[in-house]
Amino acid sequence: MDYAINEMEQETLNATREFAQKKLKPVRAEMDAKEVFSPEILQEFRKSGMFGLWLPEKYGGLGGGITCLAMAFEEFSRVCAGLALTPGTTALGAIPMFLAATEAQRERWCYDLASGKKLWAFALTEPEAGSDASALKTTAIKDGDFYIVNGTKHFISTGKEADFYTVAVNTNPARGARGISLLVIEKGTPGFTFGKKEEKMGIRTNPTYELIFENVRVPRENLLGSEGRGLLYVQETLDYSRPGVAAQAVGIAQGALDETIPYLRTRKQFGQPIITFQALAHKVAELAAKTEAGRAMVYNLTHRMDEEFLPAVKAALENGTPVHDELKKIKGVRWTKYSAMAKLFCANTAMEVADECVTLCGGVAYMRDFPLEKFMRDAKITQIYEGTTHIQKNEIIAALIKEYAAKGE
Ligand SMILES: Cc1cc2nc3c(=O)[nH]c(=O)nc-3n(C[C@H](O)[C@H](O)[C@H](O)COP(=O)(O)OP(=O)(O)OC[C@H]3O[C@@H](n4cnc5c(N)ncnc54)[C@H](O)[C@@H]3O)c2cc1C
Repeated sequence: MDYAINEMEQETLNATREFAQKKLKPVRAEMDAKEVFSPEILQEFRKSGMFGLWLPEKYGGLGGGITCLAMAFEEFSRVCAGLALTPGTTALGAIPMFLAATEAQRERWCYDLASGKKLWAFALTEPEAGSDASALKTTAIKDGDFYIVNGTKHFISTGKEADFYTVAVNTNPARGARGISLLVIEKGTPGFTFGKKEEKMGIRTNPTYELIFENVRVPRENLLGSEGRGLLYVQETLDYSRPGVAAQAVGIAQGALDETIPYLRTRKQFGQPIITFQALAHKVAELAAKTEAGRAMVYNLTHRMDEEFLPAVKAALENGTPVHDELKKIKGVRWTKYSAMAKLFCANTAMEVADECVTLCGGVAYMRDFPLEKFMRDAKITQIYEGTTHIQKNEIIAALIKEYAAKGE
C-alpha cells in the first residue's frame, strides 16, 4: 500500500519510483561488483532535485518533510540500497546542521545542500567509540577564533566524496560526554585527510572511509548550536534519521520480494510452478505481511513527526531561529522510542525477508547474476548503522522503564 497522504508525497513516490527503475536499476549490479561511487549517478540525483526534497523552498528545496525523505529512501533502496545512500547520507550529515544552525549558517550551507552541489556526511563513530558514542576521543580545542581538531573517525559513509562533514568532537574533554559538540568541517581544510577505504559485504556502491584530523583549524562559526550539547543534537538527529533507515530496510525487503514472486511463479518443478507449493506460498505471504507492517510503522511515525517538524521549520524561517529551538517550543512527542522500534522491526524484517527469499528461490538466488544475494548483503547494514539492534532495544526499554516509573507502576 502507498502511504502518501498529500500531493507532494504522492509526487515524491511516483518520481522516486520512476527514477530508481530508470536510473539506478540498469547500473546497480555493475557498480556493486566494481565497488565504486558513480559520479554519473550523482549527476542524475542532482538533476532530479532529490537532495532538496525535505528542505524548504527558500533554499531551493521542495518543501517536503521527513515522510518525503523516507519515501525516497524506500524507493531507491528497493532497487539499490547502496546508491540510495548518496542522497541518504547527505541528509544524515545535514540534519544536525539543519536542526542546530543559526539563520546565518543556514544561509551559508542550505542552498548548495538542496541543489546537491555539495554533499554532506555524518562523522560520529571512532575506532574506540561505536555504540558508546560518548567515549569519543576527537578533540577540538579553542584557539582564538578557531578550534584545533585532532582525532580519527572511521566507517564514515560517503567518505571522501562528501564536501562537508558534521563531526562530533569534544571541546572540553574534562567534562567528558558533556564536552561533546558538533563542528562542520570542510573537505580540503589543511590537516583533514582520508585514511583506509573499507571493503564491504554490502552497500558497496557507497564509499566508507576513515577520516583523519591532524591539527585542523576550524573556524568558530562552524560550531553547531552550543558547546557541550553535541550528544543532544546527535540524539535528535537519530530520532529523525532512524525512520529513514527503517524505510531503507522496507525498500530492501520489498525489492527482494519483487525479485522473488515473479521467479516463483515461472519456475517449475515436479511439473508445476513452485509458488503452488503451499509451504513456499505461505512463507511469501508471511514475508509480505511483515514488510507491509514495517511500511505502516514507518509512515505512521513520519507523518506524526512532520506534524511538528514542518511547522517548526516554518517558524524557524520566519523568526530567524534554529529549528531545534522551535521544536523545543512545540514540546511534542519524544520520538526516540518509536524511531528505535521502527528501525529495529524493519531492519530485522529486511534481513529475514532477504534471507528467506534466497531460500525460496534456491540455487539461482545464490548466484551474482540474480539480484537477491545483493539484497541479502545490503540488508545486514540496516541492523548495524545508526545504532545496532541491541542499541535500539536498549533505547526502547529505557523509555518503557521511564514511562512506567513515571506512572508509579
Ligand atoms: C557500512 C557502515 C557505514 C557506517 N556509516 C557511518 C557513518 O556514516 N557515520 C558514523 O558516524 N558511523 C557510521 N557507521 C558506524 C556504525 O554506526 C557503527 O558501526 C555502529 O554504531 C556500531 O558500532 P561498532 O561497529 O563500533 O560496534 P560495537 O559498539 O563495538 O558493538 C559490537 C557489538 O556489541 C553490541 N553492544 C555494544 N554495546 C552494547 C550495549 N550497551 N548493550 C548491548 N549490546 C551492545 C553491539 O550491538 C554489537 O553487537 C557505519 C558502519 C558501517 C558498518
